[in-house]
Order: sequence, then structure tokens, then C-alpha cells
Amino acid sequence: MDLLLPDGKGTELLAVGDQFVSFPIVIMTSYGNERVAVEAVKAGALDYVVKSPMVLADLPHIAERALREWHHLTERQRTEKALYQSERRFRALIEHSSDVISVLDVTGVIRYSSPSTMRIVGYPLDDYQGCNIFELIHPDDLPIGRAFIVRLLDCPDGNMTTELRLRHHDASWRWIDVTGTNLLDDPAVQGIVLNYRDITERKRFELQLQHDALHDALTGLPNRVLLVDRIEQAIKRNQQDEHYQFAVLFLDLDHFKVVNDSRGHTVGDQLLMAVTSRLQECLRASDTCARFGGDEFVVLLERISGLDDATQAAACIQTNLSRPFHLSDLTLVVSASIGIVVSNVGYEQSEEVLRDADIAMYYAKSRGKAQYAVFDVTMRAPVLARLALEEDLRRALERHEFRVYYQPIISLAAGDIRGFEALVRWQHPHRGLVGPSEFIGVAEETGLIEDIDWLVLREASRQLQEWHERMPWEPLLSMNVNLSGKQFTRPDLAAQIEQVLRETRLDPHSLRIEITESTLMENMAVAATTLHQLHALGVSIAIDDFGTGYSSLNYLLNLPIHVLKIDRSFISQIETDRSQHEIVSTIIMLSHKLGLQVVAEGVETTTQRAQLCALGCEYGQGYLISRPVDSARASALLMSMPALHRYHKVTDCA
Ligand code: C2E
Ligand code: MG
Ligand code: MG
Repeated sequence: MDLLLPDGKGTELLAVGDQFVSFPIVIMTSYGNERVAVEAVKAGALDYVVKSPMVLADLPHIAERALREWHHLTERQRTEKALYQSERRFRALIEHSSDVISVLDVTGVIRYSSPSTMRIVGYPLDDYQGCNIFELIHPDDLPIGRAFIVRLLDCPDGNMTTELRLRHHDASWRWIDVTGTNLLDDPAVQGIVLNYRDITERKRFELQLQHDALHDALTGLPNRVLLVDRIEQAIKRNQQDEHYQFAVLFLDLDHFKVVNDSRGHTVGDQLLMAVTSRLQECLRASDTCARFGGDEFVVLLERISGLDDATQAAACIQTNLSRPFHLSDLTLVVSASIGIVVSNVGYEQSEEVLRDADIAMYYAKSRGKAQYAVFDVTMRAPVLARLALEEDLRRALERHEFRVYYQPIISLAAGDIRGFEALVRWQHPHRGLVGPSEFIGVAEETGLIEDIDWLVLREASRQLQEWHERMPWEPLLSMNVNLSGKQFTRPDLAAQIEQVLRETRLDPHSLRIEITESTLMENMAVAATTLHQLHALGVSIAIDDFGTGYSSLNYLLNLPIHVLKIDRSFISQIETDRSQHEIVSTIIMLSHKLGLQVVAEGVETTTQRAQLCALGCEYGQGYLISRPVDSARASALLMSMPALHRYHKVTDCA
């Protein structure tokens, strides 16, 4: 391009800009105009030549050289641009990343940190850069942090992850999840790159879950799992160090069930929480007070100097619990039975410690509650006996050792038999005939009572049907069968009873189910449904041991109940105790008002019978008439009844 063109200057073309000129320009200038030519090159021309014949002859080479040079130049420009763009892209990525990216030198000094630093750890970038990362790590996490960096230094290009706490600018601690990469050998970085983000929320949630797994939701106390772990630790320490002693206190609230049943679960819960704080008042920070379940608490006392420390703690707890509890508008008084075990017995496992503490607690309870007892091996005997009894009962069921005895229920006025109560007996291979008081309790606790009750129900129903078929009795005899609380709460109870009646072909109107007042009251929720189902079947219901439990008139009115059996404890005193006489008289009057039949239990003397008769009590059972007897003797009793009583009702009082 000549600098001087007919319609302008060549330099003007250059000024249009490089995007327009996509080819190399070589300026031709005349001698003496070189200064202008230099300006042109500055403005974008590739080169200039001074016009001369020689140059003109060489123009093809000049053009070729210019093209080559141009080519190199544009190539370099393109690379630089690409590099620039990629650098900008990465910078943007880092600057907009939600994670913090920091580059450390080998000593841990932060040489670079991305802008999100402010958001995550709160520091202005200028303050953060230049800090040593180890000064920001939580003291407890420093070993983790140091090991992390050391491991990174050991492996160039390697990358690893850890979790630790960093101090936030506001002085709080933030959990971070950090990935480190060793780029010390990368000339562009020459540092350790940390990439981290805030996981405080997640960590808090995890810690909460961990806490919940080891603590009781209601009281916030350690739960059984954590307690067992602490006891195991204590046992280990005790084995390693003869001076280290610990004690375990097993505590059970007396009568808590009554509070729960009568006042409701909300009050029960409030009471448990209040008890928790009373317990804690007696303990040191190093002791563990755990909720073991329901109304059971276990305290682990560590580093005690002897039994005295444990008994003092137990006494303190009992004194503390004896102060009345004021719960919103209610005042409650509670007590606890406490079993104490001290480590010097050489325990190996936590179960052994807890078992013995539990045994001691039962011992304390059996001596009248609100006391503590220190475990000693002789206390194991009754527990072992109970276990043996359980084993024996299972075997007795398999070997069909249970028998049904029958106690007649008579019309007190006429003396004729109106029915029987079926009472279970255990025909023990060595001990002879064993009464229910010796095994019903254990059978109920172990659930074996269910099998026993079915067996009695089936056999008694079969027996009565057999008597009905053998003897034309009028009106029909009835059979009273006792049901335990466990049995009574079965949702399929009515269906099962119906099945037994079908199998034995017994008229449902001949069957009477006896349940105690307390069974009824403790299971009010299911009682109504079950009682109505039984009533619909034609089976009637008797309330056993009436007067001994707490009851409400309401259920007598609203539930299908047919018979009240006045407990033997009242009958045995009607002759001597005026007030007992009054109670019996009132129960009889009440029953008649409500349209219920009354049976007096435990009639032993003719005076009792006469008094009951005078009070209008229609039915009775007791040793005066007959003890419970086996089926053969019961048959004989029936056969010996005078014919008069079989067919005619007698209304005079005998
Ligand atoms: P219960 O249902 O109140 O039965 C009456 C108890 O009083 C019987 O005791 C009976 O032998 C006794 N008895 C009757 N008349 C007299 C008397 O004049 N004087 C005295 N001192 N006692 C008398 P047993 O047979 O020892 O039964 C005790 C309890 O065991 C029963 O009390 C009942 O609650 C329970 N039981 C008995 N058999 C069964 C059963 O098959 N299933 C269930 N779940 N419980 C049963
Ligand atoms: Mg009974
Ligand atoms: Mg009874």
C-alpha cells in the first residue's frame, strides 16, 4: 500500500481497525518519509519498505515474507486470546463457586481464597489471606487437620477429604467438609488447594440423631443403650484399677401405674420429668442417671470410695422424692424402691450388674416399698426359684398336669346347686395338688396363663354339657370360669369363646365369665367392646372379688354386667364387724337396684349364711357348702341333691 493514494492516505485505511483488515499490509514509502511509515506500522501495518527499483524487483519475496510473518502473528494472537478466555472462565468459576477455594503454602498460610470465603467463614478476603489455617481449626480437630495436610504433602497430585471445625469470624464454630489437592508441583498453582463447604446444619442433624439414639425422648436422660455402655466401661476400669469402684442403683417408682391409670399419661409423663430433676439433685456431674424404661431409673455412681457413698445417694434420693410433687393443679406423693450393687463382686458384664441391682430392688419392694436394699447373693434364691417355677409350669402344660376343680354355687335360701365355679389345680408329680395362689402370678407374668385359662374354659364347658346331658336340670346349671387380664384384652376373645361353645355344644347362657374389678378398670378401653360381644353371644359376666378394687358405679350401669361376687374378705367379717355388715348390705341393695344378681364368696359358717339370707343375698359359695372338688365328687354332689330341689324352687329362707 502506498502511503499517498489518489483519493486519500493509506494510513486512513489502517485506522478503520483490525477487524476490517484481515490481511497483512506493507507500506511503501518514498525516501525521506520514513517517519510517517513508522507511524503507520504503529497503527497496525505489518512493515514498510522504501520505494526503489531494487525493492520493486524484490516485491514478490517481500509479499511472501509478509504473509509468513502475518500467519505467525495471527496464530500467536489466537492462542493468547484462547488462554485469556480460559483464564477468565476459570476465574469466574472460582469466584462464583458456592464452595470456598483456598490455596495454602506448605506452612498452612492462606495465599489465596475465593470470594465465597466471606459467606462461609465470614472473614473479609484481605483478613483471611495471610492467616495460617491451623490458627482457625478447632483445638479438638487440630490433630485431624495436621494429619490431613501431612498426608496431602506426602502425595503430590493426590486428593483427600475430611471434616473439621473452623472458627467463623463471629467466633462460632462451623463444621466444614474439605477436599484437599496437592498442587505444589503445578507451576501455575504451587500450593495446596482446599475446597470446602459448610456442613454445620447436616452435622447438627447427625449429632441430634446420635443423641436421640442414646437418650430418652421424655426426660432427656441417657437411655438403656448408653447406660449399658457406661457400665461396661466402668467394669473394664474396675478390672484394670483396683482402687476404682462403682455402684449401680436400680430404682423403681412405687405405685406409678396407679398414677398413670387414674390420672392419665400426661400427668404420668409430668411426674417422670419431675422425678428426673429430683434424682439429679442428688448426683454429681460424673454420675450417669438413665431412664431404664417405664418408671425405672438406673444410676451409675463412678469413682466411689465404698458402699457408704451408694447408700448415701440412695437415701438422698428417697428423701428428695418424699417431698410432694406439685404438678399444675395436682399434688402427688411418690416413693421409690432402690436396689444397690457395688462393683466389688467382680462382675464381667453389665447384664450381671443390672440383674443383681434389679433383684435387690425387688427385695426392697417386697419388704414394703420406699426402701433401699444392698444386693447380696442370698437374694438370688427366690428369683431362681421363680425361674424354676416358670420352667415347671411349661412342662406341666405339656404333660397335662392341670386339673379343673369345681366349687358349687348354691341358692342360699333353698340350698340347691345353681352352678359351679371352675378353679384350676396343678397335679404336681412330687408336691401333690398345688393351688392357684402358688402359680397364677408367675403364669400371668409369663403369659402361660392364657394356655391355662383356655384349658380350664374348654374342660369346664365340656363337663357342664356332660352333666346337662346326664341330668335333666331345671333351670340349667351355670359354669363360672375365671379369666385373667391378659386373656380379657385379646381382641378375638369373644370369637374364641364362641368356638369353644360350639365345640362343646354348651348353651352360651350357661357360661359365666368372671373378671376382677381391677382387670375391668385397667382395661376400660377394650372392656366395653368385649363385654358387649360376649353379651351378644348370650354369655353373662360376673365381677369377681367385688369391693377389693377401685370401681365406678358408672360401669355397673353402662356395661352388660350380670353378677357381683362379694369378696370373701367382707363375708368373713359380717358376724363380728358392724361396718363390714353394712358394706355387704349396701352392695346387696345396690345390686338389686341395678338388677344384678349377688353371690357371696367364702361362706364358712351357718351364721354367715343366715345373715346373708336375711340381707336378701340369693347365692353363695364357700367351705360351708363345699370346698372345690374334682369332677367325680362334683357329680356325686349333684346326684345327692334332693329331687325336690331339682324341679321346684323353694323361696323360704332355710
Ligand atoms: P376366686 O376366683 O375369687 O376364687 C375363689 C377362691 O376362694 C378359690 O381359691 C376358692 O377355693 C376360695 N374359697 C372358696 N370358698 C372359700 C371359703 O369358704 N373359705 C376360703 N378360705 N376360701 C374359699 P383358689 O381355688 O385357691 O383360687 C384362688 C384364685 O385363683 C381365684 O380366686 C382366681 O382368682 C384364681 N384362679 C383360680 N382358677 C383360675 C383359672 O382357671 N384362671 C384364672 N385366670 N384364675 C384362676
Ligand atoms: Mg372367681
Ligand atoms: Mg373371688
